[in-house]
Amino acid sequence: MFKNLKTKLIVVYSVALICFISFLLVYSSRHIHKEFTLFLKTELQQSIDYINTYCLSFHKPINKQFFTYEIVTALKNLSQKSSLRITIIQNDGTVLFDTDANPEIMENHLYRPEILEARKNGTGMATRFSNTIGADMLYVASYYSNYYIRTAKSMSTINMLIESITRNIVIAGIIVLIISITVTAIFATAFTRPIKESLRFIDAFFNGNLHARILNYKDDEMGYLQKAMNQLADNIQQRIMELTNEKNKLFMIIESIHDPIALIDEDKKIVIYNRAFANCFEYPERLTGKYYFTVIRHSELNAKIYIAFSQKQKISFEETIGAKNFHIFIYPFAEPATGILLLMHDVTEQKRIQQLKSDLVGNLSHELKTPISIIRGYLETIKDNICDQKTAEQFIENALINVERQNAIINDMLKLNQLETSSFITSESIDLKKIISQCVELLTPKIQKKNLAIVMDIQSLPQTITGNAFLAEEIFFNLIDNAINYNNPGGSITISANKESTLLSISIADTGVGIPPDEIPRIFERFYRVDKSRSRETGGTGLGLSIVKHAALIMGWTVDVTSSSSGSTFRIIIPSV
Ligand code: ADP
Repeated sequence: MFKNLKTKLIVVYSVALICFISFLLVYSSRHIHKEFTLFLKTELQQSIDYINTYCLSFHKPINKQFFTYEIVTALKNLSQKSSLRITIIQNDGTVLFDTDANPEIMENHLYRPEILEARKNGTGMATRFSNTIGADMLYVASYYSNYYIRTAKSMSTINMLIESITRNIVIAGIIVLIISITVTAIFATAFTRPIKESLRFIDAFFNGNLHARILNYKDDEMGYLQKAMNQLADNIQQRIMELTNEKNKLFMIIESIHDPIALIDEDKKIVIYNRAFANCFEYPERLTGKYYFTVIRHSELNAKIYIAFSQKQKISFEETIGAKNFHIFIYPFAEPATGILLLMHDVTEQKRIQQLKSDLVGNLSHELKTPISIIRGYLETIKDNICDQKTAEQFIENALINVERQNAIINDMLKLNQLETSSFITSESIDLKKIISQCVELLTPKIQKKNLAIVMDIQSLPQTITGNAFLAEEIFFNLIDNAINYNNPGGSITISANKESTLLSISIADTGVGIPPDEIPRIFERFYRVDKSRSRETGGTGLGLSIVKHAALIMGWTVDVTSSSSGSTFRIIIPSV
């Protein structure tokens, strides 16, 4: 009814006070009435005794003739002085004398209660409304063998007294009530203030303001309670901070993992996940609280998650999602809550490397096997003596050419491997003009043999650039070598340099067989040859352009190719010169 503690206190206190005042009123009025009646009775009794003594002093029988003018006057005087009504009644109830009425017309009084009691006990008392007087009266009567003396007094005094006392008590009560309510209100305000402050604090704290505290608490029980609440808040804040830190660390760890991870609770909703997980399923919104099957749109994976949930068993399997391969682990857990941990280990790169390795082993074995078979063929023929001396020498020569090819393949493989684990590569100032000229010089016998013209337009090259001499040599040697190998006899090779703002480009153009457009993307792969027999004829290993691409990549250079049936142009682009 009253929610406010202050109002409750005031109402309860006021009701208690009103009850107390009411009780005081009833009790005091009754007590006063009783005591006053007793006092009045004693007074009336004394008057009776006095009247009787007065009447007896005449030594005459008390009858109608007894009341002479003198006696009547004396009794009326006494009645007036003492505000008494005096009545003298004969034994049979006939009224002989009455101060307030004419006895002649008064009815028989024998059965008046006070008279009946007086006859029985000697004295009698009654209170009633007198029609003669028109007021509440107290009657006291005494019986003297053949007559009764009755005195009566109006009770209006007592009623007035009780009324006055009641009025005073009510006024005093109202004053006390007003003062009490004011004092109670002041006290209740002071008493409830710390409670209100505490409630304000609890409200703020539970609504997330962890810094809220109760200030200025007093040195009493309530203050002690408030201090304890503050300490409790300190502890909770400390724990929340610790937990938040732990949570942040956990999130950082999860975020730093490149594999998709998600924690799904028993309601099948995502609780924790990392960015890799969100990216993997390309879900545009926040995933927390979403059902896993609304995010993971992959029926096989969802079926496995369902199994892990129902069988509560760890499951691991491989699955392709989008363009990626994953080794997926699903760990069901029961502590501290039930759910599953989904860990998707991205094995795409691993698979690619594995594939590359097996391709490489296949290619390499194939490349090495062919010359070995040829060498074995020649050697077996010589061993079996089925050819003459001259042919045998020719066979040995051929076997040596194939040994040389194997050597070239192994050397190129070692070079490639060296480039791939390129920790030894250093940056230095290199003179490209010098490097290109040295390569041309080394290859001059081959150029002359094929009767090729060589045009050099590399004057615009800067004196030095930053790079690596070994790698630059590998690049230009292989490209010029290819321009010779795949050129037509009598053709030409043009080496030109061009500088455009910060870019430097060096082109090696030949007038050879060219490369079909659909083959161009593949020529940088290991052992890839457009024309296998031609490559073999020229002593090619199929690794030259792979070395060029790797070496360029290490130095931040790029290589591009344009080709037609009238020749090819390989262009090296060197940035930030
Ligand atoms: P190879 O040792 O066989 O020359 P490369 O890796 O250097 O191996 O070249 C790969 C293939 O690219 C060659 O077999 C050849 O078919 C083609 N190729 C390379 N350079 C040229 C060029 N200048 N003109 C035509 N074809 C070329």
